[in-house]
Order: sequence, then C-alpha cells, then structure tokens
Amino acid sequence: MLDAIATGLVAVGAVLLVMALVPAGQIIGELPGGTVRRHWQVLAAFMYVFVAAYVSYLVADRPEADSLADLLVPGAFFLGGYFVLLVTLVSLQTARDVRRVAALEEQSITDPLTGLYNRRHLDRRLEEEVGKSVRYGIPLSGLLLDVDHFKSVNDRLGHAVGDRVLIALARLMLDAARKSDIVTRYGGEEILILAPHTALADACLLADRLRRSVEAHPIATADAPAAGAPIKVTVSVGVAALGPDVPDGPALLKAADDALYRAKHSGRNRVEVAPAPAAPAAVREHAS
Ligand code: GH3
Ligand code: MG
Ligand code: MG
Repeated sequence: MLDAIATGLVAVGAVLLVMALVPAGQIIGELPGGTVRRHWQVLAAFMYVFVAAYVSYLVADRPEADSLADLLVPGAFFLGGYFVLLVTLVSLQTARDVRRVAALEEQSITDPLTGLYNRRHLDRRLEEEVGKSVRYGIPLSGLLLDVDHFKSVNDRLGHAVGDRVLIALARLMLDAARKSDIVTRYGGEEILILAPHTALADACLLADRLRRSVEAHPIATADAPAAGAPIKVTVSVGVAALGPDVPDGPALLKAADDALYRAKHSGRNRVEVAPAPAAPAAVREHAS
C-alpha cells in the first residue's frame, strides 16, 4: 500500500511537471525576444530534464516503501512538480497582467483618432520638461498648429473626410518631428509639439518646415467625393520658448496660443513667434 502511494506521488508529480510545460510554452510564445525569453527557454529545458528524472525514478529498481519515512522523497517529487506548475501559472498570469496594464497606460495617454499623445500626457510631460529646462538651463519650445478653415473641410466634404485629414496631418507631424519631441493632439484640429532641447530660432525653422510640408502635401482620402482629388489644407503655427517672459508651462502654452492667434489674424498659413515683436513681422510670409 505504501509503495503504491510512493509510486503515485512521483507519477502525479511527473504529470504536474508535464502540465507546467503548457503555460511555460505560452509564456515563451508571448514574450518578445530577449533575455527573459531566453531564460524561460532554459527553464523549460530544465523541466524536460526533470520529467525524464521523474520517469527514471519510476522505472528504476528501488527498495519497496514500507514506512512513512520512505514517502519523504516521493512526497518531495510530488511537491516539486506542483511547485513548478504553480510558478509557471502565476508567471503567465503576471506577464499578461503587466501587458494589460501597459496597454491601458498607453491607451490612457493616446488620442484614439490620430494616435498622437493626448492632453493628459502633455500636461505630465510639460511639467517634467519645464522642470528639467529650468534646472539645467536647457531650451524648451512649444509649437501650436491649427488647421486653417478646417470647419469648411468638414462642411464641404463631411466629418469622415475631416477625420482622415487629421490622421494624415498627425502622420506628417510625426514624420517631421524628432523622436524626443512630444507631439500632442491639443484640441479638435490643433496639434501641440513640445520640443525639448530646442531654442526658439530652431523651433521657428521646424514650424516653417511643418507649415510648408502640409502645404506641399495635399491629402488623399478614399472618402473624397472625386477620386484622386487630394484635399489641400494649410496650417498656422504659433511658436514660443521658455524664457524670462515665459517662465513656466502654462505661460508657454499661452504664449504659443497668442502667437497662433496672431498668425490667424495675419492671414493664416504662416508662423508667428512669441513674444510679439515690436513691429508686426511674420517669421515667414504666406508662401504662395
Ligand atoms: P481657423 O482657420 O480660424 O482655424 O478656422 P477653422 O474653421 O479651422 O476653426 P474653427 O475653430 O472654427 O473650427 C474647427 C473645426 O474643427 C470645428 C470642428 O467641427 C472641427 N473638428 C474638431 N475636432 C474634429 C474631429 O475630431 N474631426 C473632425 N472631422 N472635425 C473636427
Ligand atoms: Mg482650432
Ligand atoms: Mg482651425
């Protein structure tokens, strides 16, 4: 009887080990390539070795178990299998939880239409970047872009086409901006680019490059009424940088907004810089 229990403990332990190979395989399949994945592959290889060891123990000649003490080793085999199964199941669940939290975090800072960052992310990063800028004397600029007469795009071609235009513009901005720039959907058809390590003069160059790029790339949309009739849009841009007159995040946003307001009222499709120059002069005149 005791011998049957000993054999049963080792056999069940082996089955638990084999079962643990399933979640281990799922973990390996779901992990991106890298050190952790490689470690799991090594762990899975160990598990195969353990299964072989359990089976060898079962088939090997060994003295018959005739006291409770003889169940100690088979009991350890059983608990070993159970332990490995538990660890792999918990690891799989933890890996999935971590991924879900990361996806939710990403979702909470992303604008669903354009895929750009949203205001929540901007607010957080603005505070961080202003802190760094003030502490280490690093320049920080903000560019606020607004689509010119966007309402008329919606009115003429429909909201769905308007959405496609916004998506295409977001793509253009991401392509033109640096990796370190924080490109945000600031409002309906307003995009704010927070540019760390960028002084006002360079921010103006970037703004004008963006403005020209939008002007030069009419947007093709599948929903356009006439196929192959890309939609021409332009943007106005307000640019500001941290400085004595613009000491913090809210002041930077306000200064860029004021500059944008001037760009709109000076004819649109242009870049204006904060603070307002004494003599009215746009950074760049209307290109056409
Ligand atoms: P301006 O040159 O002065 O900026 O004129 P505008 O028509 O672009 O400005 P206005 O602020 O009057 O209009 C902005 C429009 O943007 C109005 C709104 O319907 C549209 N809009 C805002 N969010 C979205 C969106 O997510 N999708 C679409 N299709 N349109 C949007
Ligand atoms: Mg607007
Ligand atoms: Mg607009």
